[in-house]
Amino acid sequence: MFNGIFHIRKPDNEPGLDYMPGSKERHELKAKLKEMLENPVEVPCIIGGREVTTGDLVEMRAPHDTKKILGHYHRAGPREAEKAIAAANRAKVSWSEMQWSSRATVLLKAAELLAGKYRQTLNAATMVCMSKTCHQAEIDSACELIDFWRFNPYFMTEVYDDQPISTKTVLNYMEHRPLEGFVFAVSPFNFTSIAGNLPTAPALMGNAVVWKPASASVLPAHYIMQVLKEAGMPEGVINMIPGPGPVIGPPVLNHLDLGGVHFTGSTYVFSTIWLTIGSDIRKYYSYPRIVGETGGKDFIFAHSSADVEAFVTAIVRGAFEYQGQKCSAASRIYVPDNIWPRVKEQMCDEVATIKVGDVCDFSNFMNAVIDKNAFETIIKYIKFAKEDPNLEILCGGTYNNSEGYFIQPTVVETKDPQSKLMCEEIFGPVVTVYVYPEKEYGETLRLCNNTSAYALTGGIFAQDRFAIVTAVKALRNAAGNFYINDKPTGAVVGQQPFGGSRASGTNDKAGSWLNLERWVSPRAIKETFLPPTDYRYPFMTDK
Ligand code: NAD
Repeated sequence: MFNGIFHIRKPDNEPGLDYMPGSKERHELKAKLKEMLENPVEVPCIIGGREVTTGDLVEMRAPHDTKKILGHYHRAGPREAEKAIAAANRAKVSWSEMQWSSRATVLLKAAELLAGKYRQTLNAATMVCMSKTCHQAEIDSACELIDFWRFNPYFMTEVYDDQPISTKTVLNYMEHRPLEGFVFAVSPFNFTSIAGNLPTAPALMGNAVVWKPASASVLPAHYIMQVLKEAGMPEGVINMIPGPGPVIGPPVLNHLDLGGVHFTGSTYVFSTIWLTIGSDIRKYYSYPRIVGETGGKDFIFAHSSADVEAFVTAIVRGAFEYQGQKCSAASRIYVPDNIWPRVKEQMCDEVATIKVGDVCDFSNFMNAVIDKNAFETIIKYIKFAKEDPNLEILCGGTYNNSEGYFIQPTVVETKDPQSKLMCEEIFGPVVTVYVYPEKEYGETLRLCNNTSAYALTGGIFAQDRFAIVTAVKALRNAAGNFYINDKPTGAVVGQQPFGGSRASGTNDKAGSWLNLERWVSPRAIKETFLPPTDYRYPFMTDK
C-alpha cells in the first residue's frame, strides 16, 4: 500500500484562448470544425466500459444548419438503464476502495488531456452541436471543465481534511465514505462543463455513476467519455446512456440502489424527479441525496448612479451571449427613469450591431437556439409581447427557422413589473426592462425580490456605495450568485461557487467543496485508548 502523504496543489484557473485572426488556436479550431462537419460519427452508449449499440439511431443535427447531420447516437432505453446500474454497482466495489489520490489522478490527467490534445475536439463538438461561438465554447468546454477537473481533486482534500477534535486518550476521526448505491447524473443541453462535472464530481468521491446526457448534446458527451477513458477512468465507474428523460428516468430513479441524483436542468423536471423519489421513499436503503441546480429569472438592477456604458454592456452580454440559453442569463432589467433615455438609446444601438448566424463565421456574436421546441417556446413570448398592451418591443422581435433556429436579440419594455416576461424563464434571447421612478429605489428592490419564483443570479449597478449596500441587503435571498457592477453570467470555478435557491435549486454550489460534501456519507470513529473497567462513577461512593 502506498504510504506517502499526498498533497494536491491549489490550482489556478485555466486561461481562455483568444482565437484572434492568425492565431494557432484559431487555425486548429477551424480545422477541427471542418473535420467534424465532414465526418458524421456514430455514438454508442458506454456501459461497463464497453460500447453498446441499440440500433435505435437518433440523428444529431446542427441547430444553426438543420440540414447538417453531425452523426447519430444509439438511444438507450430501460434495458440499457438496468445494465448501466449493474455495471456501476460492480465497479463501485474496487473504485470506492481505491486510494483517493489515485481517483484524483484520473481527473487531474483528464484536465491535462482536455487542456491539450482534446481542447479543440470538445470546443468544436460544443460549437456545432450546441451552437456556441468559439468564445462561448472555450469558456465552457475548455476552461470551465478543465477547472472542474483540476479544482475538484483539491476540494476533495478539503473535505477529507475536515477531522474532529481528539484528546490524549481518545482519537476521533472521520471517514468520508461514498454514498451507498449508485449516483444518477442527469445533465442539461447547454453546458459541456456541467455535463462533464455532473458524473465526475460524485465519481471522484468514490461513487459509481449512471449518466444520462441531454439528447441535444450527446456529441460532446461522447468526447467527454473518450477523454475520461484515456485518463484511466476504470470501466463501469461512469456509464453513459443517452435517451429520453421520461424513459430513462423512471427505471433509474425507482431502483432500490439509488444513492443520489446529480441534476442540472429545468425546475419542472427537477421537481418531477423529486416527486418520483418521494412517492415511495421507504423503499430505498438510504434517503437518496438529491442535488439539483435548476432555472433562473436573473436580473440586473440599476441605481441612478450606475455607469451607463458598463450597465448596457452587462445587459447585452448577460442577456444575449449563447442566445440567452444560460441559467444565469439576464432576463429582467430594472432601470431608473433618470438614466433610462441614455440606456435605451445605447442599448438599442448596440443590439442593432449584433450579428446572428453560423458558428463557423467567427464574426457572429450569436448563433441558433438549441432546437425546434426551444424556438417555438421562445417565439410564443415574442408573439405575446407583440399583442400585450403593457409590452413594447424596442429591438429585435424577429426570427427565422428556414436554415437554423435563429432568433434576433429582443428587448421588450414593460409597464407591468409582474408581466409574465418578468417572472417566467424564457431561456432565449429576450430581455425585458421595467423603468421605475428614480425616487422609488427601495420599493423597487423589494419588487424585484418578490417578482419571480427563482433565485439564481442577479446584480446591481451603482457607483453610490449606500445604494450598493441597500441592494445587497434587500436582495439577500433573491440570488445565490450576486454581482456588483458586473453581468450575472460567467461564474468561474473556485472563484464564484455556483447555485441558487428558491425554485432555482438546492444551492449545493458547483465548483466548491460544498458540492463534493454531498457525495459522501461521513462515518465518525471514536477510538478509546484506556476504556473504563468499572461501570460505577466516582459520585456514587458514600465517602
Ligand atoms: P431539461 O430539464 O429539459 O432537461 C435536463 C435533463 O433532464 C435532460 O438530460 C433531460 O433529458 C432530463 N430529463 C427530462 N425529463 C426527465 C425525467 N422525467 N427524468 C429524468 N430526467 C429527465 O433542461 P434543459 O432544457 O436541458 O436545460 C435548460 C434548463 O436547465 C434551464 O431551465 C436552465 O435554467 C437550467 N440550467 C440550470 C443551471 C444551473 O446551474 N442552475 C445550469 C444549466 C442549465
